[in-house]
Amino acid sequence: MEYRRTKIIATLGPQCSDQKSAQALVEMGVNCFRINLSHGTAAEKKSYFDLVRSISQSEQERPAILADLAGPKIRISGLNGTMDLKTGEKVIVSNEQNGPNVIPVSSSVAFQEVNPGAKIMIDDGQIALEVISQVSNHTLECCTEIPGEVKNRKGVNFPGIALNVPCLTEQDLIDLELALSSGADWIALSFTREAKDYHLVRSRMKNMNFNIPVMAKIEKWEAVENLDEIIETFDAVMVARGDLGVELPVERVPLIQKSVIDKASQAGKPVVIATQILDSMTERPVPTRAEVSDIANAILDGADGLMVTGETAMGVYPQEVIKVLSRVIEETEAAIDYEKYYTARGQNLLSTAQAISHAACSVACDLDVNTLVTMTHSGSTARMTARYRPAARIIAMTPFPEICRQLAIVWGVTSFIVHKYENADDIPAAAGNVLEKKGIISKSQKFVITGGVPVGVPGTTNYLSVFRLE
Ligand code: PGA
Ligand code: MN
Repeated sequence: MEYRRTKIIATLGPQCSDQKSAQALVEMGVNCFRINLSHGTAAEKKSYFDLVRSISQSEQERPAILADLAGPKIRISGLNGTMDLKTGEKVIVSNEQNGPNVIPVSSSVAFQEVNPGAKIMIDDGQIALEVISQVSNHTLECCTEIPGEVKNRKGVNFPGIALNVPCLTEQDLIDLELALSSGADWIALSFTREAKDYHLVRSRMKNMNFNIPVMAKIEKWEAVENLDEIIETFDAVMVARGDLGVELPVERVPLIQKSVIDKASQAGKPVVIATQILDSMTERPVPTRAEVSDIANAILDGADGLMVTGETAMGVYPQEVIKVLSRVIEETEAAIDYEKYYTARGQNLLSTAQAISHAACSVACDLDVNTLVTMTHSGSTARMTARYRPAARIIAMTPFPEICRQLAIVWGVTSFIVHKYENADDIPAAAGNVLEKKGIISKSQKFVITGGVPVGVPGTTNYLSVFRLE
């Protein structure tokens, strides 16, 4: 298979819910499946986890699973029939009042603070209301700006209004438990607002005796305001452009995306770009030029992964979607100026781990060696090396299958299981063995290797060497 640095995440759904179709998507380039926990019964959700676990790639290595918690999505709830709103029409949005001119919303929400110019967007912004006054913490008086027919269960976004909602709902806790016990490798948290949300998810996880990384979905205006602390705290971030483009004016999305990619990759945290990646392919077998151009730009900016949603879950052409992504990635990566990344990121060396990782990329470049092995227990040496976006292929070797899968979404990293090794002297032979067995390099070719000694202490990247495969 062609080596691609930018990773592909595909959302599972009815269009790829049997083993054969899911396996075909993996063969075409999917590195990770996203299971959207917003939809379906517990049994249906569970069946998606089982499906991914039944896909064999090689030995213990199966595609990774990103379990996406719905979070506090506010919906229209309890509306009988529909409401046809006309431009300029006054209407009440509330979860305490009833009446013919009231749009009822989820009971869990309270309106804490209403900023000037605050809006209410219904059904991804198909209908928009302007807030005129805050009657109480549960009732807002509004004026219709974009008219339309309001239907029950549609999503509602509140740009400019601080909401008092829990970051995890009762349903999220049930879904979290299901995800953890069913083999999730990553958890994504929808509607993340601040760094504190991370600690809440992690502590719930700890109570259930699990320890897996958590990705913040950037799709709330508060998350954009708290971007730096979120990137610093969470294990990864996703630019969830669907909701983000409703929470904030849509024209702000491209620059926010660029800034998130820049900040997260600087910090060595994986960053995923999601939604409407190949939207037109939900119904047609060919992409638009604009879609292809958007994908190429995200790759050039250095995104770790691209995530398709409805294109594979519900669309008519899931395989064509992955083929297009793979081709655009291959073509675009061939033009990346890798030296630019690691030169720029070597300016502010903060720690031994960063300096050694940077040096590993530099040695590989100077020797024109195209294989860079990272020996890792926690995954941190591999992530650290990927931060420099080297031209050499990053091969991560870890004794732990779960770390192997977590690295599936990290830029440029191909990971393999290596047998447990006790000390640094065992590293070259253990690594050489895997490289040969997997056909990564052939005899007498060189490879650069980095890792941490003593073996098994996470975060200690301090070892760098060059070997020739014997
Ligand atoms: P969703 O997240 O598909 O769960 O809404 C992605 C997005 O909002 O872009
Ligand atoms: Mn969303």
